[in-house]
Amino acid sequence: MHAEILSIGTELLMGELVDTNSSYVASELAKLGIEVRWVTKVGDDPDRLYEAIDRAFARSDVTLTSGGLGPTSDDLTRETIARVCGEEMTVQDDLLEHLKGLFAGRGFPMPETNVKQATLIPSAVAIDNPMGTAPGWWVEREGSVIVAMPGPPREIQRMWEHEVAPRLKERNAGIAIVTRNLKTFGISEGGLDEILSPLFKSENPLLGIYSKQDGIHLRAIATASTEEEASALIAPMEADVRSIIGDDAIWGEDDETPESKSVALLRDEGLTLGVVEAFTGGLLCNNLTEVEGSGDVLNGGAIAGSADALVRLGVNADSIEEHGIASAALAKELAKVARVRFGADVGIGISPLALESADGSVVAGTSFIGYAMDGRADSTSGHYPTRRLRIRGRAVTHALLGMIRFVREMPLEAVRPRR
Ligand code: ATP
Ligand code: MG
Repeated sequence: MHAEILSIGTELLMGELVDTNSSYVASELAKLGIEVRWVTKVGDDPDRLYEAIDRAFARSDVTLTSGGLGPTSDDLTRETIARVCGEEMTVQDDLLEHLKGLFAGRGFPMPETNVKQATLIPSAVAIDNPMGTAPGWWVEREGSVIVAMPGPPREIQRMWEHEVAPRLKERNAGIAIVTRNLKTFGISEGGLDEILSPLFKSENPLLGIYSKQDGIHLRAIATASTEEEASALIAPMEADVRSIIGDDAIWGEDDETPESKSVALLRDEGLTLGVVEAFTGGLLCNNLTEVEGSGDVLNGGAIAGSADALVRLGVNADSIEEHGIASAALAKELAKVARVRFGADVGIGISPLALESADGSVVAGTSFIGYAMDGRADSTSGHYPTRRLRIRGRAVTHALLGMIRFVREMPLEAVRPRR
């Protein structure tokens, strides 16, 4: 079964609104083992919308649309589907009663324009939308399906989970998909591509390589008629990947994040963490705090904005003088201060960003990340092009992946942030 997604709305074409619905639906279809062949964005123009829906209906088993189900005259999805099917829209008493009830519940009468949200064509059945006023449409004709869903993300996501995905799953019965995602660091994308090249020739399972903020991901997808069979296809592929690149290069799997992995490691080892952040402004602690159970391992963190602030935290003023504010030696000292300050087993210190400039304007910077534990200390460094949130996020990922290696007493050179 193959599918096509249409995101409808002129806003999407003007760059005012980022089309997250099609990415959402595409990733959900992948989980159901339904191949997506086309994704189209189309504005609220009757003829172009007709062209897009007509073509999708003719060439795809399933067409999924988002948007254009509102009450206004530029919401044309229903009208256009009716035109493609050559069918008449009629008001449904039960839908109209329900709609009026929704408005009554909010304390005002239903505007006449909303009546069209209570219509159907003979080939359509309504799809419940408890998050909004517009029901979706499930249209079946000549073996093809059009599913019209609302634009607001919480509405489409609720409708997808509770109404659309179960029906599509039933339609696509007999196909099971199993994926396995291995998350690596320390080997470049090109390097992985080269050493794993024989495995990329396999079609089922299919191995994909993706560069992400937390390293390079290797994802295997297997398709079979049952979940057991699909898992059995994945297992030897996973074993091959692990034996070729080595378990040391894999820091996590599937939904694991640097944060969840760090919390799990510290908890398993019975260790606590203290942090001093002079570049990332508390982001590391913030991210860790999102992981359940982080309270058991994170003893505390401090944010420092200047050399004076570091001295007040307990960093030796002379060593700042001697090594400079951004240096490996200072990062290790910050990590030691973090341990002492928060009575923790493991300390992480992230130094301020040492800015480099060209032509008088700042172009990039280097931050050093130090680790301390018992009598051991180590450091690594990263090159960060700006101070933007995304870049600081990268530094946090880098610091946590380094911490995992440091605690496991593995060499740190493998931890290099992606540029
Ligand atoms: P409404 O009843 O709110 O008018 P609708 O089904 O007609 O819903 P649209 O009018 O197309 O949908 O979009 C409503 C809102 O939903 C948009 O303003 C936007 O915030 C969000 N939205 C629409 N399409 C998308 C999309 N493809 N990705 C993300 N958000 C979207
Ligand atoms: Mg609308």
